[in-house]
Amino acid sequence: MSLPDVIIVGGGVMGCGLALRLRQAGVNVTVLERSIPGAEASSAAAGILAPQMESDGPGPFLDLCLRSRALYGGLATELRELTGVDIAYLPCGVLKAGFTESELHHLEATAAWQRALGLRAELLDGKQARELEPKLSPEALAAVHFPDDHQVDNRLLVRALSMAVARVGATFRSGYVRGVVEENGRAVGVDLDGDVLRAGAVVVAAGSWSGLVQGTAMSPHAVRPARGQMLQFQTRLPVASRILTSEKGYLVPRTDGRLIAGSTMEFAGFDKQVTAEGVSRILAMALELCPELGQAPLTEMWAGFRPYTEDRLPILGPGPLPGLFLATGHFRNGILLAPITAKLITQCIIGDRPSVDLSPFRYDRFSARAPG
Ligand SMILES: Cc1cc2nc3c(=O)[nH]c(=O)nc-3n(C[C@H](O)[C@H](O)[C@H](O)COP(=O)(O)OP(=O)(O)OC[C@H]3O[C@@H](n4cnc5c(N)ncnc54)[C@H](O)[C@@H]3O)c2cc1C
Repeated sequence: MSLPDVIIVGGGVMGCGLALRLRQAGVNVTVLERSIPGAEASSAAAGILAPQMESDGPGPFLDLCLRSRALYGGLATELRELTGVDIAYLPCGVLKAGFTESELHHLEATAAWQRALGLRAELLDGKQARELEPKLSPEALAAVHFPDDHQVDNRLLVRALSMAVARVGATFRSGYVRGVVEENGRAVGVDLDGDVLRAGAVVVAAGSWSGLVQGTAMSPHAVRPARGQMLQFQTRLPVASRILTSEKGYLVPRTDGRLIAGSTMEFAGFDKQVTAEGVSRILAMALELCPELGQAPLTEMWAGFRPYTEDRLPILGPGPLPGLFLATGHFRNGILLAPITAKLITQCIIGDRPSVDLSPFRYDRFSARAPG
């Protein structure tokens, strides 16, 4: 089978990660980005790679997340060799703390079902948790330690990915994609700022804006922006070795003393403001987890848009037309899911059978048209 030239709409972690894998499979790729590659959600994120901390229970989504987590060590090495950039992939673990009886019960239940699946999840009392992380609040009653959940510096990741994409010979082009161009029932390219750019296949990987790209048969509301606000502290020494988290949010310590605290979950359209209320909620969460942060300087605050779908699952695989593919809706876990998404969409495009059953992630759970 001859390989099609591919256009990818969107140069975030999804578009860049996919471009790298497609190019390595011998496909000619053009990434179309209206702004700076990686500058949206992919830079706004915290870089937590935590299927276990994030999961509500077993199922295809947890499996997808675990597979992607397993790809990260190799990706970090590959990107360092290709670009010289160290993406600060850190197998640091996560400590999720509980402050109330009901949070304690939830932690017990989480540790139990995860251990039953063979995943490592240790239930600790407050004293044991503080032996691991001495700066954790004395008010924490208990915690679950997920030693296999990790982190990456997502800003370094998108920088490395976009360099790697250029290095392997894919093309970046600036411009706004209005829609997918259809001829004889097939996707044949895109409308880029009023000009038709032709290709054998088109992938929509436009994050929270994916539903706004015309011609995908997705409702404009299939993917919506869920705003998350973030704060950054600077501490002299890292306050923790692990990611600290609670029901209310998380603290992600970078090795250079930066500490990312997040986040809010708001449906405010494409309004990217940082608000007093958002900041106050994140600060309350941060100080509950680690009171010592009260003395630490705040050095940055920002907001970004998680690509949200109604069932909180991504949209992956073939779209409604032959030649159209979708890689979007990764919501809170797009950094984590980028490697597996790139692998699966590459398999779809080059005609290999995807190594994961994509049926739970089909686009048409949101629309009436059948897959092409
Ligand atoms: C505050 C916050 C914290 C997060 N924390 C984590 C975390 O810790 N771990 C994790 O795994 N995930 C996290 N996420 C989620 C993760 O950031 C996203 O799921 C992921 O970045 C989505 O990547 P993307 O490439 O699909 O979207 P984006 O990074 O938003 O990229 C989409 C790109 O498409 C471009 N584009 C859009 N429309 C068009 C068009 N018509 N024409 C041309 N270009 C277009 C945009 O300019 C943009 O660059 C977080 C997100 C936020 C906001």
